[in-house]
Amino acid sequence: MTRTAIITQLQSEVLDVLVIGGGIVGSSVARDAAMRGLKVGLIEQHDFAFGTSSRSSRLLHGGIRYLAQGRVGLVHEASVEKTVLHRIAPHLAGPLPFVFPTYRQNPKWKLWQLMIGVKIYDLLCGGRNLGHSSWLDVAETLRSVPGLNPDGLKGAVRYFDGFTNDARLVIDTLRSAARHGALVLNRARFANAHRAEIWECQVEADTPVLIRTRTVVNATGPWAHGLPHSAVKLRLTKGIHLVVDHSRLPVTDTVVMTEGARILFAIPWGERTIVGTTDTDFNGSLDKVCADDTDVQYVLGITNAHFPQAQLQASDVISTWAGLRPLIADPKGRPSDISRSHEIKSPEPNWWDVAGGKLTTCRLMAEQTVDQLVRGAELRASPCETAEQRIVDDPQYSSLIPPTFCEDAVRHFCQNEWAQHLEDVMIRRSSWHYYHRNAVTLAEQASHWMASALGWTEQQRESELHRYVASS
Ligand SMILES: Cc1cc2nc3c(=O)[nH]c(=O)nc-3n(C[C@H](O)[C@H](O)[C@H](O)COP(=O)(O)OP(=O)(O)OC[C@H]3O[C@@H](n4cnc5c(N)ncnc54)[C@H](O)[C@@H]3O)c2cc1C
Repeated sequence: MTRTAIITQLQSEVLDVLVIGGGIVGSSVARDAAMRGLKVGLIEQHDFAFGTSSRSSRLLHGGIRYLAQGRVGLVHEASVEKTVLHRIAPHLAGPLPFVFPTYRQNPKWKLWQLMIGVKIYDLLCGGRNLGHSSWLDVAETLRSVPGLNPDGLKGAVRYFDGFTNDARLVIDTLRSAARHGALVLNRARFANAHRAEIWECQVEADTPVLIRTRTVVNATGPWAHGLPHSAVKLRLTKGIHLVVDHSRLPVTDTVVMTEGARILFAIPWGERTIVGTTDTDFNGSLDKVCADDTDVQYVLGITNAHFPQAQLQASDVISTWAGLRPLIADPKGRPSDISRSHEIKSPEPNWWDVAGGKLTTCRLMAEQTVDQLVRGAELRASPCETAEQRIVDDPQYSSLIPPTFCEDAVRHFCQNEWAQHLEDVMIRRSSWHYYHRNAVTLAEQASHWMASALGWTEQQRESELHRYVASS
């Protein structure tokens, strides 16, 4: 369906559900509600997955570190969901072994506690984790992680979580929602709403659009507390990642690196390694979140402490990304200690705020939200089937590793996946921007292919390229 046709339909019908926010939470709510037979619309102010959902660590995880905080319920919930995502999106979920070394110098992480922890962790997936955990002595640890600092090393545990592609998960979830009739529109900003018998929402898209709907779901992640009618209270923390060539940090398993109670990861990603993350309070502009020198030096410092021979420098960094965790507010305590659980609340009739949580639990958050809004508004809907039905897959263009750089892929993103700008293709549809050191050269070629797919003039193509380079 064309963009104009979607806008016309959004204006002419009364929706059952309008979802605000095209991140992983909003797209999961749209998929769930559409699969239950509800009339659904979804609006996103920028591109789909523009927010935190394209800036995560890309892990599907129960959260082993929350076990140390005694949050067994939270870990169980996420552990089950990580296996569900492997079932419904196998092209975007792969088992990922983790090696967690412990050191005499860091008493926060004790080997014997981790040994018990990983066994509990296996059981919390219903005994069906993605692989069996094990223990490694010093020699085995050094064999499985070449280059790891041996000073004070006590041994390690090895356990399994999953690896995903966050932005692709959003796009494929939205494609699934659209196949079930959801009307999804990017570059459409919710401005305000008025409640009479139903909600009337003012939306700024190509032109002002009025959308009428029985229920509204505010799934705007870090933006959630600024939205009119929202009752969400958030504490935002920033996390950055950097990408280096795999040859500079040749890990085959993900390596857990510690700094006191904090943990960072070195994650193998095809010909690259992803390293991150940080966790610092954030008060800047939500539309411009980036890694600064201090962030990069912090991550490089901890990585070099664990891999002293690597001697990683800023010049090794191919790309970086930075995202904001939409954590439920707790002004007290350190950012790393704040709960990653989610909250679903209805501050006004048929308005639902859904906030917090993580990528791994998005399907469950959506199921619980739709259950509640269906009950609240007395809508007729079939039972939730999102844990059984596979999401749309196109493994050629949607996988854990970026697709081959080619015109067919670019055309596919423009024609089937709502890509409108060069950055949509380079960053969120393909991850080429993060994966390739010569991303700007590739972007120039991609701009010609997009011009042909979308009918851009030469002036439009040049301005797209300038915009991309300026934001890189
Ligand atoms: C550094 C970092 C690492 C992480 N790693 C992991 C991990 O490995 N595994 C995991 O499970 N979780 C992880 N998370 C958490 C996870 O990424 C987030 O919880 C999740 O992506 C949040 O999704 P969301 O849909 O709520 O928010 P977002 O993805 O931010 O989506 C909200 C969307 O709403 C849109 N929006 C805002 N205002 C409006 C408006 N007025 N009108 C229309 N649209 C609007 C925004 O543009 C945005 O696209 C990580 C988070 C961070 C920051």
